[in-house]
Amino acid sequence: MNSRRALVSKVIPFSCVDGPGSRLALFLQGCNLRCKTCHNPWTIGRCNDCAACVPHCPHDALNIQAGRVWWDDATCQQCDTCLQMCPQQATPMAQRLSVEEVIVQIRKVAPFISGITVSGGEATTQLPFLVALFSALKADPQLQHLSCLVDSNGLLSETGWQKLLPVFDGAMVDLKAWDNAHHRFLTGRDNALIKHSIRWLAAHNRLSELRLLVIPDRCDYLTHHRELVKFIRQLGDVPVRINAFHAHGVYGEARHWRSATADDVEPLAQLLEREQIAVIRPALYL
Ligand code: SF4
Ligand code: SF4
Repeated sequence: MNSRRALVSKVIPFSCVDGPGSRLALFLQGCNLRCKTCHNPWTIGRCNDCAACVPHCPHDALNIQAGRVWWDDATCQQCDTCLQMCPQQATPMAQRLSVEEVIVQIRKVAPFISGITVSGGEATTQLPFLVALFSALKADPQLQHLSCLVDSNGLLSETGWQKLLPVFDGAMVDLKAWDNAHHRFLTGRDNALIKHSIRWLAAHNRLSELRLLVIPDRCDYLTHHRELVKFIRQLGDVPVRINAFHAHGVYGEARHWRSATADDVEPLAQLLEREQIAVIRPALYL
């Protein structure tokens, strides 16, 4: 029995966009980057019970008791009004779930999925829970066939990855810009540790996917293409997925940035292909 808990923003029992095959996707609350382009910006912060969202709920699904905000799952209509009102980029709907409670949910769908993906927010900010969950899955005869993946921003020390190494199957990691200063502009943090994580994961056969994000007029991969190609080649045979930025759902200045089209993505895709690097193009453009 493992009662370690995580702050969970959402569980999607069947997802086909969070890794290979059909997967249960677990979204943990809280992130250590502040990406201007985040499509789940309400998963970045943590609720501090300020109650600013409570009076705005049109369905009376929120109330405050003893200084804590309470969310009534049964009454909530998933209108997302509270997310728009939160000054912390948090949600009052996040729940503390234990490893056992998550495993109960996984067991219900286990015959129909190929694995689970823990995403966020940033999954590795709740590393002890992640290690406990994956360890429990690998030790369970009925669940150990499920692959355990992490969708990560890569901002984790080598010591952290080493804790995950025995119990996880891989990580899908974003490299949002090549240049450090540009990465800081886009995400608020340097990218040296992220590049190190990507190299370390590849060297340990745990890099499931490298992800690049094309943002029209704010993307530096082509400017630094020689270093980028050299970096990718050193990773070995790792899938490279190109994602297209779309402005829908993002907060702040990036709401006004132009969404990427195939014309924005193709120069990078074709450049990498000319260098014999196989790429996965965006499945759709919005
Ligand atoms: S979700 Fe946001 S607005 Fe609502 S109580 Fe928590 S911090 Fe305040
Ligand atoms: S999503 Fe938020 S605002 Fe909408 S009904 Fe649920 S708790 Fe209320």
